[in-house]
Amino acid sequence: MLDINQLRNDFPILHHTLYKRPVVYLDNAATTQKPKVVIDTTSEYYAKYNSNIHRGVHFLSEKMTEAYESARQTVKQFINATYNHEIIFTSGTTESVNLLAFSFGEAFIREGDEIVVSEMEHHSNIVPWQMLCQRKDAKLKVLPITYTGELNLTALPTIINERTKLIAITHVSNSMGTINPIKEIIDFAHQRNIPVFIDGAQGIQHQIVNVQELDCDFYAFSGHKIYGPTGIGVLYGKEKWLEQIPPYKGGGDMIKTVTFEKTIYNELPFKFEAGTTNFIGAVGLAAALKYLNEKGRKEILLYETELYQYALQKIQTIEGIRIIGTSDNKTSIISFLLDNIHPFDTGMMLDKMDIAVRTGNHCTQPLMKFFGIDGTVRASLAFYNTYEEIDYLVDSLKKVKDLFS
Ligand code: PLP
Repeated sequence: MLDINQLRNDFPILHHTLYKRPVVYLDNAATTQKPKVVIDTTSEYYAKYNSNIHRGVHFLSEKMTEAYESARQTVKQFINATYNHEIIFTSGTTESVNLLAFSFGEAFIREGDEIVVSEMEHHSNIVPWQMLCQRKDAKLKVLPITYTGELNLTALPTIINERTKLIAITHVSNSMGTINPIKEIIDFAHQRNIPVFIDGAQGIQHQIVNVQELDCDFYAFSGHKIYGPTGIGVLYGKEKWLEQIPPYKGGGDMIKTVTFEKTIYNELPFKFEAGTTNFIGAVGLAAALKYLNEKGRKEILLYETELYQYALQKIQTIEGIRIIGTSDNKTSIISFLLDNIHPFDTGMMLDKMDIAVRTGNHCTQPLMKFFGIDGTVRASLAFYNTYEEIDYLVDSLKKVKDLFS
């Protein structure tokens, strides 16, 4: 059993008073708070070991390189990749998708080819593919969703054809919390020799991700959404794909030899890590992943599920609430509209009661269009949230409603 109050002591910001009381932080899908061990590890590395990696023979550089490569190993184990060199450090999910769209596109996308995304994708998993399609005269196809906010899998066979070169789909919807049946999609795609990219920005922190079991070809996530630092993220790719696609950025570290006539690229994973990477961010990310392992991932996920169920059931008791995304298979994210109060107004009022939620379209404008709305209020949970906080949210929403009526 997790002692949540004990765990909350690991997160300094949760004890920081905003207006009148410590923050009720329900904006975890945007970014998560950091445990002390992440903050301490990061500052320790800046204070004691900061030195550029891979290039020095001196003590600090060797120490930093060792820590960076060990962080890669921690990520590899966390998602059960086959090799360390299948883990590419990026600045976050957005950069991971852009890297893949460019590099995969250069190697495999030709005029008339098709790439499939879904109607619930974050703009980060739409725009880079759209840019690729424009560059290559390829076509972006969209897998529709249902009114409960689930992928409409019955449409998959009609969307996919012999021109489909890649499916790019989110693991968990950032606007609704829907957990997509990615294993089913991957198996379906692989029977047709189509590789699959999973946007794990909202999946990695709420699901146990085992890339070998999933058999996904690529998986991306951001450090800051899994209790790690900002500016660090991951692109996992199967070795066989990463070997075949060219680098996305040129510069130092990604080369073996350079002459004015020709450059020979470095081996994996360095081929994709041009320039000075966020090496201390990587070490901070590893500290976050180790922290989660230490506290017990299964126990954390169990608590999150119970808390989410409680929150959903309590929020639904408020008269005039409309939940956006009503699938039974959801996690930790509740998007809603309160009567006809504008989400922005609800968010502003909650803020004055020390509650942090997100309002707007959550970078999913096509999804909002599908539901015929401009945006929602989104409460997104993490394992450090409590039942008391949910009760406070629900009471506060009732107050907002009274004020507006
Ligand atoms: N994909 C999804 C599903 C997201 O929720 C987000 C961020 O909210 C992103 C991609 C982009 O992540 P980042 O801004 O960390 O690159």
